[in-house]
Amino acid sequence: MLYKELAVVYEQLESTTKKLEKTQILSKFFSKVNKDELRDVVLLSAGLVFPKAEQKDLGIALKMMKRIVQKVAGVNRTEFNKVYRRTGDMGLSAKELLKNKRQQALGKKELTVEKVVTNLRKLPTIEGAGSQDRKISLVSELLACAGSDEASYLVRTILGEMRIGVAEGIIRDSIAKCFGIDATAVEHAYNLLNDYGLVAEMAADNKLGGLGVEIGRPIRVMLAEKAPDLKTALEKFKNPALEIKLDGFRVQIHKKGDKIWIFSRRMDDVTRQFPELVEWAQGHLCADICIVEGETLAISPKTGKPLPFQRLSRRIQRKYDIERMVKETPVQINLFDLIYLDNKNYMDEPLKKRWTKLKSTVKELKERFILVEHIETKDYKKAKKFYKKSLAMGEEGIMVKNLDAAYQPGKRVGYWLKVKPTMEPLDLVIMGAEWGTGKRAGWFGSLLLGARHAGRFVPIGKLGTGLSDEQFRSMTKRLKKLVIEEKAGQVRLKPKVVIEVAYEEIQKSPKYESGFALRFPRMLRIREPEDKAPEDADTLERIKRLYEQQKGRG
Ligand code: AMP
Repeated sequence: MLYKELAVVYEQLESTTKKLEKTQILSKFFSKVNKDELRDVVLLSAGLVFPKAEQKDLGIALKMMKRIVQKVAGVNRTEFNKVYRRTGDMGLSAKELLKNKRQQALGKKELTVEKVVTNLRKLPTIEGAGSQDRKISLVSELLACAGSDEASYLVRTILGEMRIGVAEGIIRDSIAKCFGIDATAVEHAYNLLNDYGLVAEMAADNKLGGLGVEIGRPIRVMLAEKAPDLKTALEKFKNPALEIKLDGFRVQIHKKGDKIWIFSRRMDDVTRQFPELVEWAQGHLCADICIVEGETLAISPKTGKPLPFQRLSRRIQRKYDIERMVKETPVQINLFDLIYLDNKNYMDEPLKKRWTKLKSTVKELKERFILVEHIETKDYKKAKKFYKKSLAMGEEGIMVKNLDAAYQPGKRVGYWLKVKPTMEPLDLVIMGAEWGTGKRAGWFGSLLLGARHAGRFVPIGKLGTGLSDEQFRSMTKRLKKLVIEEKAGQVRLKPKVVIEVAYEEIQKSPKYESGFALRFPRMLRIREPEDKAPEDADTLERIKRLYEQQKGRG
């Protein structure tokens, strides 16, 4: 398929804000795509080059993109800046600058979807000396063959900024409509496959029906909602289970005979990083085939006590010297769920049954491979004692779970409720920044925070405290790579970095698009992507709820 056909669709999508129309446009388009290209086309329609779960970074920042566009358009910096300043958008600048170029280069090869995908997928694999030049040449090659509209979308895809308003829900509904399948079935398949491109391809082959769990392929994990307080959480379920909420790293362990896979909550394969988990899973999961989940904590080699998450983070990122890390930062896993056992899928079974099966499957290894602390009670006094104990242990709070509910992959459906102390911090995305002045000159001195809303982020305030000088410096370094646009000392950023923010109060405010502002926001910590990604950031919906609760407290 020619890439220009996709560009036409992007343009149609951009011209409407209505979800239904977007779904209509995409489902019609998908129905015309050849089966062997459907997977890539679906991903590209969502503005993706790789499935989201793979979290691959193309490694082309705004600065490099500027250089590429300049080079392909054959203009100097001043000419480029003139256009860029006027349009304020790299995609539109490329469109305009390449229009002229294109007229001279008529007769060039036309760009295909296959070529786009082939070149772009090579980008994350390029490392070492000369890697910049190689990346530049892969992207230049594409831009040189692109028509001006194509160039604009190509640039936006590479920068991860499509701005065509196509969220996951629209892709799901478009696949459903195109193949005449129920949207929940499409979503279910996505929870098992983690790739809407693949889901579409299988839908086209009529293969979604019998789709089941595959050992070795991660399942999207079930998520929790926040409860306002313990009492409300307890009242929510007829049969609640209470568990300590540990602040660690969630893993999903798959076992098939001696073969073990360890997946992170973001579905990365971290098996190599945790050889001791592999060994324990081999010896202490008494089943030939199973999938279990638990929270991994780093523990002190001396005292055996849990250590802060940062210590564990080092182990997750480590690719070599693993044996030394195993000794330096030992871990413990607290198992809390079972999804699959001996060729039976337990996802639709109630937690009560899953927990019973888990207990009989796990042969505990003291302080290392253990079951999470779990009690079953609806009694407020007992629950309160358990909650206090958790806080006294230095843990975040507790989980209140519905014993009668199924495992709902990928969803916050309110079957699991987190109970934590009130005025909880928010996890917000840094979506913009302002260059500092005076002592902070040369750094981003003020960070624009965003909450999730309708598939994008809306600003809710600026933060300039809670970071040490050193943190400001390293944060600037980190954010510089994410700049999308710069105007008068203010930059717009790719929403990639999530921080945990404490504040005194949520206020109504016309100043920000969200309609709210935070009083005295300060940064508590940076959330590493393994811990919290932008799609896990807090929503405007939740901020509204917190605002109402806060009002209620007077
Ligand atoms: P949050 O990241 O704040 O949305 O809280 C949900 C996370 O808490 C899960 O993804 C787990 O990583 C973690 N967690 C800690 N203890 C438990 C538990 N007992 N059951 C389920 N999740 C837990």
